[in-house]
Amino acid sequence: MNIHEYQAKDLLLRYGVRVPTGKVAFSAEGAEQIAKDLSCEKFMVKAQIHAGGRGKGGGVKLAATPGEVRQIASEMLGMRLITHQTGPEGKIVKKVLVEEASNIEKEMYLGVVIDRTREKIVLMASSEGGVEIEEIARNHPEKILRECIDPSVGLQPFNCRKIAYFLGLNGKTVNKAVSFISGLYKAFTENDGSLAEMNPLIVTREGEVLALDAKLNFDDNALYRHPEIEKLHDPAEENPMELEAKKWGISYVKLNGNIGCLVNGAGLAMATMDIVKYHGAEPANFLDVGGGASAEQVTQAFKMILSDPNVKAIFVNIFGGIMKCDTIATGIITAAKEVGIGVPLVVRLEGTNVELGRKMLGESGLNITTGADMREAASKAVAAAQGR
Ligand code: GDP
Ligand code: MN
Repeated sequence: MNIHEYQAKDLLLRYGVRVPTGKVAFSAEGAEQIAKDLSCEKFMVKAQIHAGGRGKGGGVKLAATPGEVRQIASEMLGMRLITHQTGPEGKIVKKVLVEEASNIEKEMYLGVVIDRTREKIVLMASSEGGVEIEEIARNHPEKILRECIDPSVGLQPFNCRKIAYFLGLNGKTVNKAVSFISGLYKAFTENDGSLAEMNPLIVTREGEVLALDAKLNFDDNALYRHPEIEKLHDPAEENPMELEAKKWGISYVKLNGNIGCLVNGAGLAMATMDIVKYHGAEPANFLDVGGGASAEQVTQAFKMILSDPNVKAIFVNIFGGIMKCDTIATGIITAAKEVGIGVPLVVRLEGTNVELGRKMLGESGLNITTGADMREAASKAVAAAQGR
């Protein structure tokens, strides 16, 4: 689960991680009031959406007076902010963070990730901050330090010092960076973080070490242990289709291809996406109706796939174990009746009650292509999507 920058900064502050002083506003008047209360020289107004690259898109602005904060906030609130991370449809700005502007001496990058191969938390640091870290990783991998933390002892002061020196810090800023990194690591581990990014992490002209931007992600499977984090969830930031799917107990992730996939079981769903790619096409979605889905869930899944205008063919790949093939057939037939299936439908059905399922589909009058096995069905689905 992702949270907003202002929420991340509030959380980090509780762990002693320094961030600029500020507060979130939902209206231009609210933004002006926050600025008045801050009583500082200059202010930053920052659009709060779950995406980076806001600066370039006009979502991060400097203001000299509370009146100017109000003006900028009124323009920003309600605007459709498009960045390289939002996709072309952008995101509507519903709140802004108003904070004291910092005097930047140096911009750096600090990230916390979980390296699944090493089975360790890795701190990533670079003295090249404020730019895309992916680009640095590609063109100048030597400019990134990856510090692995041994989970049996946790983060040690020497790890932090190593990072501070790599970042080119000296004097008092080293100690400040050490306490910053310790606080960040504690916030990350205690809350089951899955990703943290401070981009940029800065040293101010006054010699403070601050997170100018903060991004925190949490492990969804651990949220039950952190109800206070779960409360920070902002449904407005999620893909509406993925939210709808969650309500129905279906795992759905929207992707950019044109083959709609309806599968039972996460492993088979992954394999289905692989085999679609292997045949030269891209899946339009990941969709797992679950092992014991009902006909209603299957119908719902179909409706979701069909509501994606990119879908040019549907590939149903079911191995009926707990799930029975006739249940799937009922779901498909109901969906076809209710919404109409205007694209080619390729079905690979195997397992419990397969004969009955096939018979039902055969007698349904629907135009269904079948595949003897997964490979054949995948290649037929790809061919159908390409109009072959
Ligand atoms: P992002 O574009 O979504 O990553 O938003 P950031 O919060 O990282 O802000 C983008 C850029 O705006 C930063 O890299 C800084 O260069 C600049 N910026 C943000 N806050 C301040 C500030 O308080 N003072 C100054 N001088 N620049 C800032
Ligand atoms: Mn940033």
